[in-house]
Amino acid sequence: MRWICCCLHTVRVLYFYTPKIFSVTAQKDMEALDMYFMQEAIACAREGLQLRAGGPFGAVIVKQQQIIARGYNRVLIDRDPTAHAEIVAIREACHHLHDFQLHDCDLYTTCEPCPMCMGAIYWARPRRVIFACTRQDAANIAFDDAFIYEELQKPFTERNIPMISMGRDEALSLFHQWEQMEDKIRY
Ligand SMILES: [Zn+2]
Repeated sequence: MRWICCCLHTVRVLYFYTPKIFSVTAQKDMEALDMYFMQEAIACAREGLQLRAGGPFGAVIVKQQQIIARGYNRVLIDRDPTAHAEIVAIREACHHLHDFQLHDCDLYTTCEPCPMCMGAIYWARPRRVIFACTRQDAANIAFDDAFIYEELQKPFTERNIPMISMGRDEALSLFHQWEQMEDKIRY
């Protein structure tokens, strides 16, 4: 009877504590996996740097623990100001998935994304963004995107690049046309 009691106690202890042990283990496994994919993003950045492709930035996109896209900053070699590592990787991932959304994907990037990339990330809707360096780290090597955040807060007329609105009625008619289309795909 005492033995049964002891067993029951052990079972109860295991019942209460095992899930916690598992969750801690799972969390550590996830951190290790995240670090593995971040290392891959860093490897991309290193590759781009060696090729003098652009700034020292890299990104990978992961779905179901598989890398589906890699990218490094290609602004210089592509002469494309939008060719940031995250954008390059998002384009490749969407091409790979035949989709314009990154459902259940994680984006690993070697630096906190700039406002342009954050916009692209929100449109692509991945599950998580994992970044290494901060925007301050980037600012310290002259990749300062603080001015963009500041610009967006200003009224159109006070921005460094003037923004002028015209032709609204005609452009708006296309919006109405879109709204009335029954076979449109909302995204
Ligand atoms: Zn960017």
